[in-house]
Amino acid sequence: MTELTLDEVTKVFNEGSGNEVVAVDSVDVTIDDGEFLVLVGPSGCGKSTTLRMIAGLETISDGEIRLGDRLINDVSPADRDIAMVFQSYALYPHMTVRQNMSFGLEESTEMLDDEIAAIVEETATMMGIEELLDRKPSELSGGQQQRVALGRAIVRDPDAFLMDEPLSNLDAKLRATMRTELQRIQEDLGVTTVYVTHDQTEAMTMGDRIAILNDGVLQQVGTPLECYHTPNNRFVAGFIGDPSMNFFDVTLSGDSLTNESVTYPLPDEIRASLDEATNFTLGVRPEDIEFHDKQTAFGDHNFECVVDVVEPVGESNNVYLRFADDDSPDPEMFIVTISGMRNVSSGDRVVATIPPESIHLFDERNGHALKNRSLGDVDGVAST
Ligand code: ATP
Repeated sequence: MTELTLDEVTKVFNEGSGNEVVAVDSVDVTIDDGEFLVLVGPSGCGKSTTLRMIAGLETISDGEIRLGDRLINDVSPADRDIAMVFQSYALYPHMTVRQNMSFGLEESTEMLDDEIAAIVEETATMMGIEELLDRKPSELSGGQQQRVALGRAIVRDPDAFLMDEPLSNLDAKLRATMRTELQRIQEDLGVTTVYVTHDQTEAMTMGDRIAILNDGVLQQVGTPLECYHTPNNRFVAGFIGDPSMNFFDVTLSGDSLTNESVTYPLPDEIRASLDEATNFTLGVRPEDIEFHDKQTAFGDHNFECVVDVVEPVGESNNVYLRFADDDSPDPEMFIVTISGMRNVSSGDRVVATIPPESIHLFDERNGHALKNRSLGDVDGVAST
């Protein structure tokens, strides 16, 4: 069993002159045997440092890392039985693909040459690079080089794979193909995998679960849909999803949430769940806002708006709106996603409905989610 456990793992860098940087702060996560966990977060949040501690390339300031039952804090990288794939393919330029893939096995195992050759051939076939075995890296495309780098990790048959942004040097189309392929290979091999990316789309589409880091602190670990629909806090809500969730900073005043641009009446059952908090961030996803071309919808949660910008993305349009009666110099803007077939232009007057069942409310003091959207219709996500 090769479960990978991080128990309160911390990394403090000492920058000299007494300056300390807490790059990773007491991270607790267990990656199940065979699981694909994506570690995601903005630049500088501590993703690579976490991965490098698991690999043994960085010392651990505090906490424990276990692979199966084995505490590996002080085990050398070579003895951890973990294979790492980087953004830069790090292939040996003077060696052929075959030699690049064989090298690690020749150096670190007692395997016979024939056995190594067979494993390399088999893996190359699985990766679709069997025709390239006698070429040098300089004779390969970026995608082919990345396949070789992955193949080199796979032949080692490790207990765990660590991947640090392995697809980011590829063009968008190839990246999408490689995402699916990597998932298929990982599933076939069943090897516990930690995959680092700053790209939330990659996290959403690839991970069995995702772990979201910010400023070295783990914000949430869950399935992609859990993190999308039931974020723990405002950071996760804003980080996961493209276009991002819309946020309005509001205050509870009587029965409504208000700010300079909007007054949003709160149904009693939502108000009752808000404890003593008075200042909130109201969040709503762009696809949850209903969009009416004409002034046909009336009611407390309908708002007359003016179209500012329309961003066509093919199957959908991202429409930037402002409230029609907001005449402040810096009006509140929000995004609605509508079908790409609908014709909307800048300056159009429209109506946006923000349904109470779709809103999220975050405590302004600490960003904690007090209410997430209702999930009656989403499979596999526990309703909150
Ligand atoms: P990116 O996506 O940009 O690679 P990341 O999430 O992988 O970022 P890390 O490289 O893990 O982030 O860095 C986390 C924090 O630790 C950053 O603030 C970084 O400046 C700091 N850091 C990393 N390495 C060192 C070091 N050797 N000395 C001092 N600080 C460091």
